[in-house]
Amino acid sequence: MFDSLSDRLGGVFAALRGRGALNEADVRAAMREVRIALLEADVALPVVRSFVDSVTEKAVGQNVLRSITPGQQVVKIVNDALVDMLGSDTADLELDVTPPAIIMMVGLQGSGKTTTTAKIAKRLTEKDRKKVLMASLDVNRPAAQEQLAVLGSQINVATLPVVAGQQPVEIARRALNAARLQGYDVLMLDTAGRLHVDQALMDEMRAVSDVSSPAETLLVVDALTGQDAVNVAKSFTDQVSLTGVILTRMDGDARGGAALSMRAVTGKPIKFVGTGEKLDGLELFHPSRVAGRILG
Ligand code: GDP
Repeated sequence: MFDSLSDRLGGVFAALRGRGALNEADVRAAMREVRIALLEADVALPVVRSFVDSVTEKAVGQNVLRSITPGQQVVKIVNDALVDMLGSDTADLELDVTPPAIIMMVGLQGSGKTTTTAKIAKRLTEKDRKKVLMASLDVNRPAAQEQLAVLGSQINVATLPVVAGQQPVEIARRALNAARLQGYDVLMLDTAGRLHVDQALMDEMRAVSDVSSPAETLLVVDALTGQDAVNVAKSFTDQVSLTGVILTRMDGDARGGAALSMRAVTGKPIKFVGTGEKLDGLELFHPSRVAGRILG
């Protein structure tokens, strides 16, 4: 397993106990350990660099509090900066629009997009008493539309009937009409994923966004995305205007560094984390918990 950042810094600062202020050489030595801790937690390298630079600037010259060691002081500064960057509070969905509110789900194939669509539908139905319709726009992956229908029947949420041969934009239009006519509060659009970001995927996603004007456009990413997180986040933010991010598979041993990468690149809040394969495995994102997990 990994050493915690406190343990690492304990070593760096062992000789310095009791000094008045953090000097630049000490802080740089500490930041080497911070950098390793962040990389081990799967934060993408460019994000690690800019984070470490900004924290170094903040830390140099700070007085060490009487009650703690220099190592603990640096951990506190790093932790506070992480929480700050991850967003200081939880962020729920914002669906305060004339119904039906559209939620468009985007992401790479295998990220957990379809499962998360059903998880959110379940939450909205049970917790917020919303009438929800789900529609799968994934015409590439065989059985994707059926997968959503099966999940819908497990949680008693309606899915748009499948019409063979329809293209995503047509399906989105049909879903929108159905949601309006049948008085749904929320329409969830599960867009197609691909194994890699490609232009066809992006064009299709933009076209769907244009016809549906979503209240929420949520990027679903696997918490183990690691160094690729920056590319994934950039590609999607460049093409559609995201309103939030969801990190899946936080029930596994991911350290959650992708959260920091996603937040840094998209500038959008992380709204939920996926915590299991079951449809109740969805929680609001708590910045301070994830900061703790990143630091180990
Ligand atoms: P999609 O291709 O992005 O739509 O991905 P799916 O929703 O089909 O999910 C792919 C796999 O990941 C499925 O086996 C899901 O059960 C699983 N999965 C999704 N979210 C989570 C999660 O938060 N935790 C765990 N452990 N598994 C998840």
